Amino acid sequence: MSTTNGVAPVHVSGTNSPLDHTKAMEILQKDYAGKDGLDAETLVDSKLHGGLTYNDFLILPGYIGFPASEVSLDTPVTKRVSIKTPFLSSPMDTVTEHSMAIHMALLGGLGVIHHNCSPDEQAEMVRKVKRYENGFILDPVVISEGTTVGEVKALREKWGFGGFPVTENGTLRSKLIGIVTNRDIQFHDELDAPVTKVMSTDLETAETGVNLQEANDILRRSKKGKLPIVDSEGNLVALLSRSDLTKNLHFPLASKLPDSKQLIAAAAIGTRPDDKIRLEKLVSAGLDIAILDSSQGNSIYQIQMVEYIKKTYPDLDVVAGNVVTRSQAARLIAAGADGLRIGMGSGSACITQEVMAVGRPQAAAIWNVSQFAARFGVPCIADGGIQNVGHIVKGLALGATTVMMGGLLAGTTESPGQYYVSREGQLVKAYRGMGSIDAMEDKKAAGADLKDAKAANAGTARYFSEGDRLLVAQGVSGSVLDRGSITKFVPYLMAGVQHSLQDIGTKSLAALREDVRTGDVRFELRTVSAQAEGNVHGLHTFDKKLYS
Ligand code: GDP
Ligand code: GDP
Ligand code: 5GP
Repeated sequence: MSTTNGVAPVHVSGTNSPLDHTKAMEILQKDYAGKDGLDAETLVDSKLHGGLTYNDFLILPGYIGFPASEVSLDTPVTKRVSIKTPFLSSPMDTVTEHSMAIHMALLGGLGVIHHNCSPDEQAEMVRKVKRYENGFILDPVVISEGTTVGEVKALREKWGFGGFPVTENGTLRSKLIGIVTNRDIQFHDELDAPVTKVMSTDLETAETGVNLQEANDILRRSKKGKLPIVDSEGNLVALLSRSDLTKNLHFPLASKLPDSKQLIAAAAIGTRPDDKIRLEKLVSAGLDIAILDSSQGNSIYQIQMVEYIKKTYPDLDVVAGNVVTRSQAARLIAAGADGLRIGMGSGSACITQEVMAVGRPQAAAIWNVSQFAARFGVPCIADGGIQNVGHIVKGLALGATTVMMGGLLAGTTESPGQYYVSREGQLVKAYRGMGSIDAMEDKKAAGADLKDAKAANAGTARYFSEGDRLLVAQGVSGSVLDRGSITKFVPYLMAGVQHSLQDIGTKSLAALREDVRTGDVRFELRTVSAQAEGNVHGLHTFDKKLYS
C-alpha cells in the first residue's frame, strides 16, 4: 500500500491493515465504550484496593475545549452559603485569626477563626472581619464634640480605621456636626484638645433614600474619604467609605452573602454548655457560619448542639464534623447540619491514627461521605492532608465542595505569629496541631488550671475530656517554611485548579462532580513506581519554584 504522495505508511506493530483514521472516534465508542481507567466508585472500593488517599491515584485527562480562565470555581460551603473559590483555612491558632480570615474572604475563600482563646477575643476577631469591608456602614463608630484628640487616637488603634463622624450626642441618629479623619489628627500633639479643634465641618453629605450606586457616585465626585448619610433633619444615619470602593475593585471574588457588602465570617466552637455563651457573643459580632470543631463529630453532644443552633439561630449556618463514614454523617445530617467537615487523622500535624487507631485514609473518607451527603444537598469540606494543588483537585473530584488547609497556609504573612530563623538557617513560622501538648497546655500558661479553663473561658477542648487527668496528644508542634503572602499563594492555587480542570475537560467544579458521578471522568490507580515516576527524578539538583 502506498499513499498518494508515495510515502509508505508506518505499520504499527501487530496491525497489518490500519483502519481509516477518520473512524477513530467511532471505533473508540464501539470497541472501548469511550472509557479508559476506572470510575470513581471502583477506584475507591476498599475491598478491591484498600483505603486510598490522594497520592494513590490520578485523574485521566479529558478534552480541552475552553481556556483555563473560563473555569468557574463557584462552590457551596453550606446549604445556603456559596463562595467563588473552594479554599478554607483551618481553625487553628497558628493558622486563622482575623488577618487570615479577612484575606481568605477577600480572595474568594473563607478563614475559620480558631477558638483557642477567650470568647471575647474570638468575637473581636469576627467583628474585625465583618467591619473590614462595607457598603453603607449602618452602625459607624461616632464621637461627640467633647471627645479629645487623644481619645480619637486610641479609637483608631482599637478599630483600625480613623474616620469618625462627630454628632451632637455622640451617637447615631443625632445631628451631624463634623467629621474627624486620620489626616486631621496625624500631626496634632495636643492630646487633650477637643476634636472640634481639628474636625472638618464643611461636609458633603447625601440624604437617606440614596442607593449605594448613587452614593458611591457622589463619593467619587466629592474626592473625599467619607460620605455621611443624613436624614431630612441632618441626623447621621449611615456612613460610606471611599476605601470600600477600592477594596471592591481589587477583590472582585470576595466572599459576601448576596444581600450584604460585608465579608462572610466563619468561626469554630466546641460542644460544651459554655460554647453556647461563646456562640452568643460570636453571633452578636456578626458570625455567619459556625463550625463545630471535633475530631469525632458523631456524638450526642454535637447532635444536641446542631439542634440547639438551628432552633436558636435559624439564620446561622452550622457545619458539623469531623466525620469519615456515612453512618457518622447520617446522624449529623438528620440533626440539621448545613455542611460537613471530612477528615480524621489526615492532617499534617496529626497523630490521631497512630495513637487512637481510628481514622480513615482521606480519599476513601471524602468519596463515601460526600456522595452520601450530596443526596441531602449537604456540602462537604475535605479537611487535612492537602499538600499541593493536585491534592485539592482530587478532593474536589471525589465530591468535596471545598478544601480546608492548615499546614499549607501556616507559613504565610497572614497567619498568626512571627517568622523566625530555624537551626538550618531557613525562615519559618510555628505550626502546631490543636491536639498537641503545646496547644492544650497554653491554657495552663494563661494562668488557668486546665479543668477550670475547660469549664470556663480559655478555649478549645477538642482533644481532651472533662475527667482527663493526663493529656494524650493527638498532634505535634513544629514549624513550616515561609510561603509569603496568601494574596499571591491563593491566586496560584486558584489558577492551578483552573488549569487542572481544563486538563480534565470540565468547565466548573459542579460539572466535575457531576462527570465523576456519571463515570465520565476516569481515574487510574498509581503503583509505588508510578508515584516515583510522577515526581521529579533523575536530576542531580533542581529548584522547585511553584509560581512567579
Ligand atoms: P479611615 O480613613 O482611617 O477611616 O480608614 P479607611 O477609609 O482606610 O477604612 C475604613 C474601613 O473600615 C472601610 O473599609 C470601612 O468600611 C471600615 N469600617 C467599618 N466600620 C467602620 C466605622 O464605623 N467607621 C469607619 N470610618 N470605617 C469603618
Ligand atoms: P474530640 O472528641 O476529641 O474531637 O473533641 P470534643 O470536644 O467533641 O470532645 C472531647 C471529649 O469531650 C469527648 O469525649 C466528647 O465526647 C466530650 N464532650 C464533648 N462535648 C461535651 C459536653 O458538652 N459535655 C461533656 N460532659 N462531654 C463532652
Ligand atoms: P493540614 O492542612 O495541616 O494537613 O491539616 C489541617 C487539619 O488538621 C485541621 O483542619 C484539623 O482538622 C486537623 N488538625 C489540627 N490539629 C490537629 C491535631 O492536633 N490532631 C489531629 N488529629 N488533627 C488536627
